[in-house]
Amino acid sequence: MSNALKITFLGTGTSQGIPVIGSNHPVCKSIDPRDKRLRVSALVSWKDYNYVIDCGPDFRQQMLTNEVLKLDGILFTHEHSDHTAGLDDIRPYFFRQGDVPVYAHKRVADSLKRRFDYIFADENRYPGAPAVAVNLIDKDHPFTIGGVKIIPIEASHNRIKVLGFRIKDFTYLTDVKTITPEETEKVKNSKVLVINALRDEPHHSHFNLKEALAFIEEVKPETAYLTHISHMLGFHEEVDKNLPENVHLAYDNLTITV
Ligand SMILES: [Zn+2]
Repeated sequence: MSNALKITFLGTGTSQGIPVIGSNHPVCKSIDPRDKRLRVSALVSWKDYNYVIDCGPDFRQQMLTNEVLKLDGILFTHEHSDHTAGLDDIRPYFFRQGDVPVYAHKRVADSLKRRFDYIFADENRYPGAPAVAVNLIDKDHPFTIGGVKIIPIEASHNRIKVLGFRIKDFTYLTDVKTITPEETEKVKNSKVLVINALRDEPHHSHFNLKEALAFIEEVKPETAYLTHISHMLGFHEEVDKNLPENVHLAYDNLTITV
């Protein structure tokens, strides 16, 4: 059992995934497996701990593909469906392990309670419904899971705030459009940074490629991986080879060790 962090990119696509249903865009028709992107999520493992960042609509498939037999918790970045819609599929973990720990900002937890009321119900629980143990988190309070300190980092996703996470020398941020200098400081000196880059064109709530590269230039990680990618960014092969030397496009099921 290693103390190193093993990161698995479970999904690297934007909210509709790639291919988009019914799309004739050449990237959606690509036969390169790196152009098939499930909704964005990452598995972070160390020793025998497994934590996922977000739990989108492809969660079940992601857990099956990566044979994740034990889940120690879910860290939520924000409440949008592409990051939360798979929550019901924690059932197999709940049956084996009991209440699944979730780590979320209060606003996100409140949203989950509305949308998955049966999971959060205290009484008259439906038999077979899963349950969670909620841990409220915010940008000002680092917390510890599996003996490792997690530093939440806040950014803005247009009108709502999102949390990213610094875990030792690894930082994972997604759905960022702007970030304050104070929060940017927390990202500096990361060995590996994961950051969202949607497409070339500007977008109201996501970094485009240019903004992501400027942020990488500012915080200077040794290596950066881009995620939350739209088909409009282009073919993996072509986009990846034109990136700076220390920047790579992530792709589904890529694993790295930090
Ligand atoms: Zn998203």
